Amino acid sequence: MRISQTQLTELVDIATSSLPNESCALLAGEVKDMKIWKDIRIVEIIAARNADQSIVSFSVDEMELIELYERAEARGLQIVGIFHSHPSKPAPSSADVEFMRINPIVWLIYSSVTHEFRAYILENELEDVEMEST
Ligand SMILES: [Zn+2]
Repeated sequence: MRISQTQLTELVDIATSSLPNESCALLAGEVKDMKIWKDIRIVEIIAARNADQSIVSFSVDEMELIELYERAEARGLQIVGIFHSHPSKPAPSSADVEFMRINPIVWLIYSSVTHEFRAYILENELEDVEMEST
C-alpha cells in the first residue's frame, strides 16, 4: 500500500487531536485489484468521528459512514482502508479482529505510544500489509 508522508502526518494529527480517545478515518484510494495490496495508492484521508468517544474502541455512525463513502465515490475513489489509533500497541484488538472479518480491507493502526504505523488485512488469517511511504 502506498501512502505519502503528508498523509501519514495528517493521520498523526488526527490521532493526536483525539487523545486520550481513539481516533478514526477512512482511507480513500485508487485500486485496480483489491487483492493486490501493493498497488493500492491512498489518495485522500477522510477524517471520521469516533462515535464511541472511547479510549479502547471506535465506531462511526452509520449515517456518517454512508456520507463518507458517497464523498469518496463522487471523486471516483474507493474506500480501501480503515484507520484508527490506539493509545497502546499498534496491534489489532480482539474486537478489531472481529470487525476485520466483516470489513476485509486494509486496517491501518497508529500507536500514539510507540508512534508506529502498522497495516493489516484479515483474509484467512491476519496478515501484515507492507507500506511504502512516498
Ligand atoms: Zn483497535
